[in-house]
Amino acid sequence: MERPGAADMSSVIAVLNAGSSSFKFSLFAVEGEQLAVVARGQAEGLYTSPRFVAKDAGGAVLEEKAWGEGAKLGHEGALEHLVGFLRNRLAGHRLAGVGHRVVHGGLEYAAPTLLDAGVVAALERYVPLAPLHQPHNLTPIRVLLERQPQLSQVACFDTAFHRGQPAVAQAFALPKSITDRGVLRYGFHGLSYEYVAGVLPRHDEGAARGRAVVAHLGNGSSMCALAGGRSAASTMGFTAADGLPMGTRCGNLDPGVVLYLIDELGMDTRAVEKLIYQQSGLLGVSGLSSDMRTLLASTLPGAKAAVDLYVYRIGRELGSLAAAIGGLDALVFTAGIGENSAEVRERVCRDAAWLGIELDPAANERGGPCITTPGSRTRAWVIPTNEELMIARHTRRVLAGRPSEVPA
Ligand code: ADP
Repeated sequence: MERPGAADMSSVIAVLNAGSSSFKFSLFAVEGEQLAVVARGQAEGLYTSPRFVAKDAGGAVLEEKAWGEGAKLGHEGALEHLVGFLRNRLAGHRLAGVGHRVVHGGLEYAAPTLLDAGVVAALERYVPLAPLHQPHNLTPIRVLLERQPQLSQVACFDTAFHRGQPAVAQAFALPKSITDRGVLRYGFHGLSYEYVAGVLPRHDEGAARGRAVVAHLGNGSSMCALAGGRSAASTMGFTAADGLPMGTRCGNLDPGVVLYLIDELGMDTRAVEKLIYQQSGLLGVSGLSSDMRTLLASTLPGAKAAVDLYVYRIGRELGSLAAAIGGLDALVFTAGIGENSAEVRERVCRDAAWLGIELDPAANERGGPCITTPGSRTRAWVIPTNEELMIARHTRRVLAGRPSEVPA
């Protein structure tokens, strides 16, 4: 239960999810026990052609601004703009704090954490483990700590939900001298899985108490086995490059391939990093696009090969995750592809017939929530994720332990 504390009735919690050249934000009003979206938006093209847009809960544009081609607003400028927007919009409300999505909490941070300069320095140590995300997640935190030091900030980690996995699910078969340094399988998308695990009992109490696999299929894709609602295993590992193929990441790769790239193709570590994170996955295989919509609409052989491989790998991982939890009561689809692509869901469910999944094609076309027949031994669901709400809830709980509110 969320306790009203530092974030009271007149408070607003801001949620930030920052990337390399953009950030998304959401504002939640604290209404008793509820958190209600009052605005959301994004700033993008921060170093090339900056644009800012904020919409209300119904999707009506509250503010829109473009700085033009070649303008370099940067994260600092965009955050300043966001703070100005909040000041105008929040008259009468107070900004209780800002919750940030931070991809990696490492060994040390297994729960949402109040931020200060010391915590940020500790989190910087995890940049090499998530080079595409961690540095950008930390940038707005650093800017706000400098410019708005009185503002409470909370980091919510994508790794935290998985830290309770059995040791064997987290282990690599490497010498102890290396694993003792924290080289283990962390898993990511934890905020999404935590949210889905929280709402699953409303849909499927048996699976929520039993064995479920959640497929978070977006630009970044991963899968997580839930046993009794807790993370038991996941496809992502030490970094967010492991597991399924993704928009531009390769996913599971024989480490011997990396040695080959270095020894035989003469690639250095930066070139390998670029290949693994930015040039592979759906984009690399198709030679066309990282975007599933584009691939599904294309008749090019590369596009078909990329979708085929994506679906095949989901099926393989599903078998592996079901083995980790001793069977399967439900499969849940979420995120951009999982929530919107009836075609990908259908293909995954058909391949998973051996696990007792019997697809209801009409329900699948409608988008669920249940997409299997009433007689299906194992159920499949479409459950939209809500990482922002999860971050807002965590932020509110952390702030409830620390009475600090400042006028926006
Ligand atoms: P991110 O990981 O960036 O949050 P999303 O969860 O928004 O990504 O997912 C983005 C992916 O979802 C893209 O590949 C996009 O093509 C895909 N997607 C969105 N809508 C559809 C749709 N109707 N059909 C197929 N794919 C879709």
